[in-house]
Amino acid sequence: MEEKEFGLYDVVEMKKPHPCGTNRWKIIRIGMDIRIKCEGCAHSVLIPRKKFIRKMKKILVKHEE
Ligand SMILES: [Zn+2]
Repeated sequence: MEEKEFGLYDVVEMKKPHPCGTNRWKIIRIGMDIRIKCEGCAHSVLIPRKKFIRKMKKILVKHEE
């Protein structure tokens, strides 16, 4: 499977929306684990990189450098 290119502060859509009903997540930390923050309720979750790549559907907004 091809690795999707994602970067810090990109807004992504996951395969499953957050229970609050929003499916827009901002990447706020990248390392061994990825921290994403829900754009709807500001709740953030830490996901292992491999799991994040599996669960991310697409990049919605690419952060401008
Ligand atoms: Zn939420």
